[in-house]
Amino acid sequence: MKTIHLNGITYRWPACPVVVICIDGGDPSYIEQGLRDGIIPNIARFMRDGFSAIAEGTVPSFTCPNNMSLITGAPPAVHGISGNYYLNEHGAAVVMTGPELLRSRTIIAEFADAGARVVAITAKDKLRKQLGKGLDLTQGNISFSSEYASRCTLTENGIDNVLELAGMPQPDMYSMDLSLFVLEAGIKLLERDHPDLLFLSLTDYIQHKHAPGDPVANEFYARIDEKIGRLAELGAVVALTADHGMNDKSTRDGAPNVIFLQDILDLEFGPGDTRVICPITDAFVKHHGALGGFVRVWCLGGKATPRAIIDLVQDMPGIAMALDKDEVCRRFELPPDREGDVAVIGDIGTVIGAAEAEHDLSNLADARLRSHGAVTEAKVPFILSRPVSADFLRRAAAGPLKSHQIFDYAINGTEAAQ
Ligand SMILES: [Zn+2]
Repeated sequence: MKTIHLNGITYRWPACPVVVICIDGGDPSYIEQGLRDGIIPNIARFMRDGFSAIAEGTVPSFTCPNNMSLITGAPPAVHGISGNYYLNEHGAAVVMTGPELLRSRTIIAEFADAGARVVAITAKDKLRKQLGKGLDLTQGNISFSSEYASRCTLTENGIDNVLELAGMPQPDMYSMDLSLFVLEAGIKLLERDHPDLLFLSLTDYIQHKHAPGDPVANEFYARIDEKIGRLAELGAVVALTADHGMNDKSTRDGAPNVIFLQDILDLEFGPGDTRVICPITDAFVKHHGALGGFVRVWCLGGKATPRAIIDLVQDMPGIAMALDKDEVCRRFELPPDREGDVAVIGDIGTVIGAAEAEHDLSNLADARLRSHGAVTEAKVPFILSRPVSADFLRRAAAGPLKSHQIFDYAINGTEAAQ
């Protein structure tokens, strides 16, 4: 039997298709609420008959770092993606979605090279190139985003006519259909091609705008559950996790609860002396205004030292911790060359911004701000449709269970895969 080795883990050959789903922004509270409301019968069955735990995701609890942790089975210290955005060695703010920035092979690319058929579908196109890195798309492997589903070509994506395949129109960028399309296309490909491994990554627009129990959130989860049930019916092992959770970050009167850190630092050390980077920033800012629970500060001018910044901010209300580069890299397994001089992390109810003038909050008026990035959003569901072996049960109980072990558990741990 062939095996695959990557980042210290040996993966056996899957005996049946394995589908790993990343519910973007899928805070455990949505599942808890869904169970109470009786709207997610398939997930409830997995939790009862398969395996269910809460796992530790990657901090900062943002989309790119966590998706890369899941697909490589390793922390950012290994794969290099520690945010959606960082300040490079030339002082330029760089989007971290370029495949050249990913320092690890992916589990699906390793399997594809060994002859498996693999599929990676993401809602947001920004993740596609890293998730599909190293994938030979001439061998029946597929990688595309629902955001650009209508533009898929055989050369770029390994597939065309995706709208026809999914039987859905091109979904809007800010809609629940952008995520549901990913699942529907996964179902159709599982039926048609019987791939060995699928990675399906959704988007968190609904969770940013709707709290657990809200009718829109419940509709979204009911529809996800229905599609997940169909994947399991087709004979796949289904594994569910999230890239990060989501918490309400608003004040009692409904305004975003923000600490504008750049303004505070400029007042203390002078403009230009420090640079605050918000690594939540991406092309989709409508739902969070680039406000998350984790920022990085670079010391540029010589007045502010890491110690002075930490002393200034660590006891401020709303700040959970302020850590220097060594400490944050050690604690959260982050790559030092992409870390700032100080990392500042908010508490459960607070987001941290750069300068107030840099954030466009005009799109946040329609709902309370819900966001992520902090340690408090790094707890995620870890659910398998089938039971795991005694050995894996022991490992999970001994902990810590990391969300980036999801492929390991789904492929090596489930009884059907043995
Ligand atoms: Zn996300």
